[in-house]
Amino acid sequence: MERLFLGRLIRTRASVSRSALRGVGATALSRSAHGAGTQWHEGIGLKAARGFKTGLAENLKRGSSEPPAFAFAFDIDGVLLHEKEPIPGAAETLRLLDKNKIPYILLTNGGGKRESERVAELNDKLGVSITTESFVQSHTPFQELLEGPDSFRDKTVLVTGSHYEKCLDIMLNYGFRNVLTPADIFASKPSVFPFQPVKKTEQQGLISLPQPIYSQPFSANDSSDVLSNHLKIDAMFVLNDPRDWALDIQIFSDLLLSHQGYMGTYSPKNGNPAEPNCGWQSDGQPRLYFSNADLVWSAAYHLPRFGQGAFQYAMVGLWDRITGGHELQRTCIGKPFGETYRFAERMLNAHWKRNHKIAGRGNTSGTELKSVYMIGDNPESDIAGANGYRSENGTEWVSVLVKTGVWDEARSGAKFTSKELEPKRIEADVKSAVGWALEREGFKAGQ
Ligand SMILES: [Mg+2]
Repeated sequence: MERLFLGRLIRTRASVSRSALRGVGATALSRSAHGAGTQWHEGIGLKAARGFKTGLAENLKRGSSEPPAFAFAFDIDGVLLHEKEPIPGAAETLRLLDKNKIPYILLTNGGGKRESERVAELNDKLGVSITTESFVQSHTPFQELLEGPDSFRDKTVLVTGSHYEKCLDIMLNYGFRNVLTPADIFASKPSVFPFQPVKKTEQQGLISLPQPIYSQPFSANDSSDVLSNHLKIDAMFVLNDPRDWALDIQIFSDLLLSHQGYMGTYSPKNGNPAEPNCGWQSDGQPRLYFSNADLVWSAAYHLPRFGQGAFQYAMVGLWDRITGGHELQRTCIGKPFGETYRFAERMLNAHWKRNHKIAGRGNTSGTELKSVYMIGDNPESDIAGANGYRSENGTEWVSVLVKTGVWDEARSGAKFTSKELEPKRIEADVKSAVGWALEREGFKAGQ
């Protein structure tokens, strides 16, 4: 399944809150390491049979004795897999990097399953041994919100996606302790959605609400004692493509209009011209997070299907109508947004530093990767994200577009509508893309 990013406008409009994730601690990442327990060797073996132009040599040779300060980030669909089947050379390429202790991660806008489940599927298909430490899907960076002074670990969060139960499982597995879905709210108070319920989970809910929904006419004079006995939502997350838009939009909108996230209340600040932003989203309402802005994606049907980006647009449009033209304040991650690239870079640095330390080459604090090669098939997401990202560490992100996915060279004539979408390099497939990068980094096929 290939995701197509068409949400150019979303990228701009969501930018007001793009920095919201920045600065949140991510210490959990430092425990990860690709190739742990192994030694770095330069010039591993000297018996390669082929050069990069005709195929990747199994053994690489490099003049420098220093560990190579570069890494790879691979998109999955259209780069490693096509229609769920391995692209020729993909598995071979990953094994080569493993063998030579060159760090990489898989960076996808997909989601809706645990990372471990998706990694097991990939290993089965590709015949490799990737771990979750080398895998970032759209909602993986939400784990950063467990850390830091504004942690949501013990707050109550609402989550939605294509499957409520799986969304709940993913968030609990990340470490969020109080997670609810719209189905839980509906089950507790069916009058929130006065339409025919269509799914059993909506009727029964998955989890009992920790507190009842506020159900009186709310006034600003209601004391905090009264409110604190009622359900309060502190953040709302969309993990992947929502299945039940109507229920989700109703409850998400209720909370965006609420007083401090208390379900069942309505903020007295809403629409007040004397308030900043006319009072909209200015009364302690829950933060809203989207994991992916892809408007449509390619599934089994012969025409593109709406994705999470379409749901986001629906909410943006509805919010515009409700508020008389105010912008929905939200955070959107996933490719091409910088937060996802920052998260990926942090993971890659952890892999690389682990390899470096294991090699006994001293303390690497203060040193970071010099280059990361983003290998992708979609100029709108993979390439634009790599081109637009500015590393805090000065790491250069090099975009490499491959021809095995959505990009159609014949249709585009290898022309790009903006500089932002233009890759540093175009290669036939992942194998030749990695070969080009290795040569650029001074590697040669072993002899
Ligand atoms: Mg792709």
